[in-house]
Amino acid sequence: MWQPSIILGQVITYSSLDLFLVGLISGSTFLAGWLLHAYQTKAKPPQENLFRPEKALKKETVLLRDIINKSPDLIFIKNPQLQITFANTAFANILNKTPEELYGKTDSENGWSDEAVYGNPQKGIAGFEKDDKAVLSGEVIQNFNIRIMYNGKVRFLNTIKTPIQDETGTIVGILGMSRDITEQKRLEDIQIYSSQFQQLVTNLATEFINLRSFNFDIGVNHMLQQIGEFIGASRTYIYQFSDTVDTASMIYEWTSPSTKPQIDAQQNLSTKIFRITFDKFKRGEEEFIPSVVDLPPSRQIEKDRLLEQGIYARITLPLFQGDTLIGSMGFHATKIDSNWADYTVDLLKIVAEIYVNLLNRKQVGEKIRHHASLLANVTDAIISTDMNMIITSWNHGAERLYGYSEDEAIGKVFPELVRTDYSERHQDDIINEFFTKKQWKGELIRYHRDGTPIHVLVSASGVLDANGDMIGAVSVNHDISERKRSEKQQRELTLQNERIQLLEEVISDLSHDIKTPLTSIQLSLYMLKKQSDPEKQTEYLNRLEQHVKHLTKLVEDILTMTRLDKGAKLVFKPLDMNSMVEGITNTYQDVLEMKNKTMQVEFSPNLDPILASETELRRVFSNLIENAITYTPPGKAIIVRTYSDNLENIFEVEDSGIGIDEKDLPYIFNRFYRADKARDTSKGGTGLGLAIVKKLVELHGGIITVHSQIGEGSTFSVKLPVQE
Ligand code: ADP
Repeated sequence: MWQPSIILGQVITYSSLDLFLVGLISGSTFLAGWLLHAYQTKAKPPQENLFRPEKALKKETVLLRDIINKSPDLIFIKNPQLQITFANTAFANILNKTPEELYGKTDSENGWSDEAVYGNPQKGIAGFEKDDKAVLSGEVIQNFNIRIMYNGKVRFLNTIKTPIQDETGTIVGILGMSRDITEQKRLEDIQIYSSQFQQLVTNLATEFINLRSFNFDIGVNHMLQQIGEFIGASRTYIYQFSDTVDTASMIYEWTSPSTKPQIDAQQNLSTKIFRITFDKFKRGEEEFIPSVVDLPPSRQIEKDRLLEQGIYARITLPLFQGDTLIGSMGFHATKIDSNWADYTVDLLKIVAEIYVNLLNRKQVGEKIRHHASLLANVTDAIISTDMNMIITSWNHGAERLYGYSEDEAIGKVFPELVRTDYSERHQDDIINEFFTKKQWKGELIRYHRDGTPIHVLVSASGVLDANGDMIGAVSVNHDISERKRSEKQQRELTLQNERIQLLEEVISDLSHDIKTPLTSIQLSLYMLKKQSDPEKQTEYLNRLEQHVKHLTKLVEDILTMTRLDKGAKLVFKPLDMNSMVEGITNTYQDVLEMKNKTMQVEFSPNLDPILASETELRRVFSNLIENAITYTPPGKAIIVRTYSDNLENIFEVEDSGIGIDEKDLPYIFNRFYRADKARDTSKGGTGLGLAIVKKLVELHGGIITVHSQIGEGSTFSVKLPVQE
């Protein structure tokens, strides 16, 4: 590229005009050799030049003039009277003349006019002269980007004017060179435009997306202004069509300061006049008329109408909401030289999309506000939010429930304003469910502004736009704190009732269980008093002893049960189940022998230790073994076994006794339950044994199960976790 800086600031003395000119066209590779030659020539002692053959010099001069004339750059020389003394062809072409026609004349005499020189307004032809005078006083002037009209087209020139000095140092003229940089400027402009374009689109999009509560009309007008100014339009506008697309009315308009607004006149226009444009709209196509003047005769009516309004160029495109054609958006140019490119159409398309999104948002917002206003006085809180959870409506119910006024709430991010306790539910799960099903219902705990927790039944639904895309949410929050309180009270009451009932049962069972042996004791004592026969006396004394024993066992069991009920803390230590069970079974050998029953022991070796309270677990195993002995007839066998299953040790007692009726099975672990309805205490049981066993097994983290068949026998299994 041409580098003007090479000669900037230099005042060059010349001995040969031609060589000097060559020196100036320094950027051209073709001429680089000549430049070198010129300087070399100048540097050589003058005597050497004397030997140079004059013929060769002349030939060289002709060649140089030819090169200069063929240069695409504009080259000219002016004398101190500012008359052209030399001009190359490129320079003369700009004025549609030959170089010779220009010689001896000033710029204005040569046809340069203020109109021809656009650029800087204070420049023009007077600017040229001012520059020239400065050059004559020794300055080097460089003007970038002068706009001129050339063959009816705008061109941009980059011009340098340098003083020419003679050998004495006197300025004898002006050398000018201009390069046509129109194409370079066009490329630069496109680059600048596209980065500004992106910036504008980003600004517009973020402005509207982030707007928390916005005034739609102000937003749209601002958008039209921004794009209008950006592309240099005279008017940007939006039309709204009637439902049947028969008429169109302008609803938004921005105009440049020099353009007359016409929104008032553009109402209820028949769309028939613009039939061709509307046909395109219906197909979803935009229309770009770069030059109204060039519209074909088939569009004469439109052409007349547009020119009447001073419109020379137009870009317009349809606005669709879903599949419905609702209006159009466009740009007008009232200047002839506006040259919009295709990317201007792209900008309009993006802006149209932003507008339709805004419109959807506005309409949905209105719908929601309308519904919300209907529900303003219901006690439930009705809150609508956009996709960023920003509150867009807040009714009286919400004010009451959460303590924030409508003004305080609108525009805030809902989860930031109202805290929700998600400890019982996973917030992400709720959000996922809401986004997939577009609705969610459930109970949550939220907080009033004063910190009071509120139980709410939340019912949220997605708000959808015309395309079915979710653009917000409406949530109804019903206060169920009262219900929750009464539910809690109810639960407590039920629990209390159950306790009372249990207590009543226990008392009545107790009184029965205590009264019976007491009555027997009384009876035995009475009989004992009356009896003189020593044999009979011994019999009554034995009976008395039996009853006292039973009573003692009953009192013991009741005390154990009460202790466990109160939440006794057991002390656990690692225990080997086999050795413990072996110890217990040994204590029953005598009893078994006496009662003519047998007990077999099957131990699985190497059981992992369990963590247990030795006394209490002994009570569990003994009780089950005692029951087995009690309910197994003489001559029959009992098997006690241990084994492991996964991470559990199992203790099992299998008897071949009377068995338990199916209907009794679910109840045998209840307190005072005895399978034999007579509830007699003949077998010495208290009916508390299994209840205590079950409670203890559970306190050890285990479970107890029973399998039984009437007449065949029962198997009780206790599963206990091994020590980890
Ligand atoms: P009890 O002290 O009366 O034995 P338990 O709570 O130990 O009370 O047992 C409750 C009831 O379960 C017993 O009255 C009995 O009817 C029945 N039962 C317990 N173990 C056995 C068993 N091994 N075989 C048959 N019935 C049993």
